[in-house]
Amino acid sequence: MDARDKRGHDVERLALRHYSGFMNSRAIAKAKRREVGSEEAARPVLLLAWYDRHRRRLPWRPLPGERADPYAVWLSEIMLQQTGVKTVGPYFLKFLARWPDVDALGRASLDDVLRMWAGLGYYSRARNLHACAVAVRRDHGGAFPDTEEALRALPGIGPYTASAIAAIAFGRRTMPVDGNIERVVSRLFAVEEPLPQAKPLIQTLAATLLGAGDAKSRAGDEESRAGDSAQALMDLGSSICTPKKPACALCPLNDDCAARRRGDQETFPHKAPKKSGALRRGAAFVVTRGDQLLVRTRSEKGLLGGMTEVPGSDWLAEQQDKAALAQAPALKGVARWHRKAGIVTHVFTHFPLELVVYTAKVAARAAAPKGMRWVPIATLKDEALPNVMRKAIAHGLGE
Ligand code: SF4
Repeated sequence: MDARDKRGHDVERLALRHYSGFMNSRAIAKAKRREVGSEEAARPVLLLAWYDRHRRRLPWRPLPGERADPYAVWLSEIMLQQTGVKTVGPYFLKFLARWPDVDALGRASLDDVLRMWAGLGYYSRARNLHACAVAVRRDHGGAFPDTEEALRALPGIGPYTASAIAAIAFGRRTMPVDGNIERVVSRLFAVEEPLPQAKPLIQTLAATLLGAGDAKSRAGDEESRAGDSAQALMDLGSSICTPKKPACALCPLNDDCAARRRGDQETFPHKAPKKSGALRRGAAFVVTRGDQLLVRTRSEKGLLGGMTEVPGSDWLAEQQDKAALAQAPALKGVARWHRKAGIVTHVFTHFPLELVVYTAKVAARAAAPKGMRWVPIATLKDEALPNVMRKAIAHGLGE
């Protein structure tokens, strides 16, 4: 039998890790239910008991009993917004080594932050990260505010992130609801309404899973476990209540799960059909001068703002090759562009993109057109190049 499931989890190890605690967990569950008298009241208690035994070790997560660092919580939450835990880990450590606190990050240049962020995608997050660090330094004396309301007023911090920081770093009684939590809650309560309409209902139901603690308490004062409740649900969603084949036998809430009783767990959360954006097309121009490449910086506003790119055409749904080629940079000595075979494809959140790549070589003294510059190909890794540009350059420079 293959010991790995489709998502690459080592099933045997996962089962072994949980088995030893499993029988005890069932005993704990029974005892807790007897103690608190109802399923509803038992859920948060069971969840926290499970978390205390099975919590994931993550670079930004303090050890049990330690206080969470708001800077680490914020940095990880911003990075995790559209990126998985595995990819974020090394970036998080790199940022922390270079800028150990929010004050240091607030003093860094945006260029340096974008460079360090390159490869992580969704670059507006990096610009907001920098703007937020500057604001915390300037307006809050270098310490994050500890309420959801004040956190939401900072650049790049939306309702979810404000709730996550408030709960995890400051023990505020609030439940941040991410995709993992949406899945667990929609299954636990068999929420029939599809997403995104079901979000307010899921938010309300998720809040019933918060552990004990005073509304204003902060870890260290009157102990609040709101952050642990949130992280318990996140962990449960990522390791047990997975999108496919949830391991219900290992779940601390399995006796009380509506979807499990019905046997249709995998159908939750229900989703309204997605409308995907229309395909856009464009051209990228890969121009070399010896061992240098012609690049420019995108404008600060909009998609990939402030990032480095090779010159290119607009990206339009109805883009014709001829119109795209007409937007090639004016360079002395380039009479004809060489069209590389094949196309470069990339999928942004709102639309897929196809790029045709044209190449040209210019003489050693050729000047860069206005707003562009030559950079050594050997140091391209230091440029804030988004993935789509890395693909276009690799395609253009390839044999
Ligand atoms: S019993 Fe299964 S479906 Fe229900 S919450 Fe637990 S893992 Fe998810």
